[in-house]
Amino acid sequence: MRLLIVEDEPALLKSLKKGISEEGYAVDAALTAEEGRFFLKGGAYDLVLLDLMLPDGSGYDLLHETRRKKSQVPVLILTARASEGDKVKGLDAGADDYLTKPFSFAELLARIRALLRRGPSPRPVVLSHRDLRLNPATREVCLRGRDVALTKKEFALLLLFMRRPGEAISRTDITEKAYDFESDRDSNVVDVHVKNLRKKLAPNDPEAYIRTMRGIGYALK
Ligand code: CA
Repeated sequence: MRLLIVEDEPALLKSLKKGISEEGYAVDAALTAEEGRFFLKGGAYDLVLLDLMLPDGSGYDLLHETRRKKSQVPVLILTARASEGDKVKGLDAGADDYLTKPFSFAELLARIRALLRRGPSPRPVVLSHRDLRLNPATREVCLRGRDVALTKKEFALLLLFMRRPGEAISRTDITEKAYDFESDRDSNVVDVHVKNLRKKLAPNDPEAYIRTMRGIGYALK
């Protein structure tokens, strides 16, 4: 079993490497995102322990890149960040588990064993509807096998529709669910994003995928 640790605190990295090696695992250690990227390119790992705040970038980005390259290596995030939002963001980005610092070494080993037992798991749930595919972890959208480039808001909108296919979703609901973190709550904004999304999905047939529900809102057909 081969593990990669990406952690920028030298003392912590050293003690993790030592402790985990003593359990019989082969361990590579990276102090920066760049080093982590280098190791990931070269090696087949059974597990990656990943710190989020690295001097030259974010662990999230490294995780995104890794998943985009279709790697299914289990990733355990190690970080001082403890907020619910960060945890959700990490798991959404394709992490398998999350451990907040400071943690006990015994607990870390238990989580490592659990992830190694499980092995690489199929990456979450690509949502599909008709000839559309959406991967929430990599944020990729494909239409008939071709990538569709969406803005963040268009992506959020399509994700909401694809989670509730066929259902009429009101503008208010869309603003609340898809634009949770946006200050702009004008419902015309929703219409504009719907219009742009429709154009990208079917330039010549606005209602091919998203139907207008008069007096209510929109629905994915
Ligand atoms: Ca750090």
